[in-house]
Amino acid sequence: MIHKEDIDKIFEAARVEEVVGDYVTLKKRGVNLIGLCPFHDEKTPSFYVSPVKGIYKCFGCGKGGHAINFVMEKELMTYPDALRHLAKKYNIHIVEEEQSPEQLQSQNDRESLFVVSSFAQKNFSENLYNTDEGKSIGLGYFKERGFREDIIQKFQLGYCLTNRSAFTDIAIKTGYKAEYLVKAGLTLEYKAHPDPPPSTNAQDKLGRENQHTSQTYSLMGSGSSPEFIPTKEGGRLGGASYSDRFWGRVMFPIHNATGRVIAFGGRTLRTDKKTAKYINSPETDIYHKSDVLYGIFFAKKEVIAQDNCFLVEGYTDVISMHQSGIENVVASSGTSLTVGQIKLIRRFTNNITILYDGDSAGIKASFRGIDLILEEGMNVKVLLFPDGEDPDSYSKRVSSEELKTFIKNNSKDFISFKTNLLMGDVQNDPIKKAGLIKEIVESIALIPEAIYRSVYVKECSRIMDMEEQILLSELNKIRSKKFNEKSNSHNTTAPVNTESDVVEALQIEEKKQLLDASAEHQERDIIRLLLNYGNKNVVVDGEETDEKKQPVQIEIPLAALAIHELQHDNIVFENTLYHSIYNEFVQHLDKEKVPDYNYFISHENTAISYLTVDLISNPYFLSKWEKHSIYTTMEEDILKKSLYHAVYALKSRRLEMMIHDIQKRLKENPPDEEMMTLMQTQHQLLKTKKELNVLLGRIVVK
Ligand SMILES: [Zn+2]
Repeated sequence: MIHKEDIDKIFEAARVEEVVGDYVTLKKRGVNLIGLCPFHDEKTPSFYVSPVKGIYKCFGCGKGGHAINFVMEKELMTYPDALRHLAKKYNIHIVEEEQSPEQLQSQNDRESLFVVSSFAQKNFSENLYNTDEGKSIGLGYFKERGFREDIIQKFQLGYCLTNRSAFTDIAIKTGYKAEYLVKAGLTLEYKAHPDPPPSTNAQDKLGRENQHTSQTYSLMGSGSSPEFIPTKEGGRLGGASYSDRFWGRVMFPIHNATGRVIAFGGRTLRTDKKTAKYINSPETDIYHKSDVLYGIFFAKKEVIAQDNCFLVEGYTDVISMHQSGIENVVASSGTSLTVGQIKLIRRFTNNITILYDGDSAGIKASFRGIDLILEEGMNVKVLLFPDGEDPDSYSKRVSSEELKTFIKNNSKDFISFKTNLLMGDVQNDPIKKAGLIKEIVESIALIPEAIYRSVYVKECSRIMDMEEQILLSELNKIRSKKFNEKSNSHNTTAPVNTESDVVEALQIEEKKQLLDASAEHQERDIIRLLLNYGNKNVVVDGEETDEKKQPVQIEIPLAALAIHELQHDNIVFENTLYHSIYNEFVQHLDKEKVPDYNYFISHENTAISYLTVDLISNPYFLSKWEKHSIYTTMEEDILKKSLYHAVYALKSRRLEMMIHDIQKRLKENPPDEEMMTLMQTQHQLLKTKKELNVLLGRIVVK
């Protein structure tokens, strides 16, 4: 934990123009600096840095933040790591909170696993060049696959010798503890039951297949040490018996996102059928299969640059594509795609393209993976290689350019993909066709964003030649069922009776969301003014009067005026994020302080921080206000007018929404008494709205 005071010191010291300037050539433009965006490809600069505000913002790709955000994005670091990085740059000594002995121990344990894994990687790589066996079998295999020398080095490929305990022996001799070799999954440790004698066959089987198949022996993790019976082949130490998990295999180290080796995949070169072709490290404290993607470390920069991540099946697919110059590629290797893996990709991009082998039997089974991606709100495309080809074989057969063009031209959205794949069986069978449509709509129903759902419904309607309305009602049915299941599991007292009720409820809910969204625009405008100018003073009429009964003019911060105006009509922000920001202004003003945007930029709630960056870097304000950069009395007048304009606009919008609700109820022919009240209220609201609009019309913002 880094202390808050130190964090503040770093924020103070780290000038955004200096931090960004280390990576981007910046030119002065007024009070700002501009340059080519380091996060997306561009030829004319749309990336700007405001030293005054302490932020950067790209109007091309939307990336923006303060100096620490920039380091996080650019160096792919966590928040604490970015702080440490900048502390070093600015010679700020940071005091990190002390860790408990348990925390320290677990950190040391993990660190030990990293260390032995790194040692193993080096040992396996050395075998490839320094041993006869490694050269002829290991290196021979990689060369035969067509891997270039630089690629073998880049991916740190290696070879584990056939001698059953060669690696473990040398590791222990070098000083590594057997305990950690076992915990890291590199070494197998055997114990035997006290009585029966060992069978050499069982040990061989265990060592080779990594399976717990023997009654006599059982694999041990670590810990207590009952009786060990040494065997002929394994290494031995203090009565325990060890063997290498990966003996006789070519080795693919698996790196985490920061490039440290955390596990291995090993491929056997023997042809006997009992031997598993690939085996992987088991789950360890540093290797959680479901959160790891092979190749992510080598891919991440290019994934960001291309804003897309290719997903393939195996290690060699990843390596071959790199060799062909396509680097934004990772493999789920062995496991079927998990949510953890999808989230890992989402740290770098929102777009995934899955590349399938032409003859992959698992394509239909992999539809689940597509659904998982959609459910995470990401875009997914799919590419099928020609029959009998996989990314590995295809990338070797064609040139880099051809491969890139092929991927570009043949990637399909998931609807076209599913349809093309399944359409063959259903062409003239209406019932099967209906089943296919239902299946596709079920996938669409998983997408969290309504806008994307509607785009896909349109697409599906076009491809399947099916009326959009029918698809929409099917979609609503599925979503309401989900909604129903959800609300039933959350709340048993509010059952929803019939399906059509739910559909209607959902439609009303969606309309309401639309209306809220429109008021959101007005809410946002007020928050933008508060963040930009909340602490600037404006002159208003006070409550006290002078001897001529004229109100005394007083100077108050713009934020105070805004709060006064909003509280007067009990206006509450419906957007929770805006509400939190507004609330902070209210609380600070109670203590007679007004926070400025710097306070919100470095806010612990990152959503607030990002929103602030977004709202204070609005191009309108840049051109209109910042050109002058000094606030004259005239500009102060504009400020006041802008605020009133925004407040009235929000009030007017809220009135509209209320009137809309009343009109809806009126259409339902309510009882006479209710009808009268509604009409009266409506009349009042319309009158107030008219008055507001007159006020709005009078405010001219220059
Ligand atoms: Zn950009």
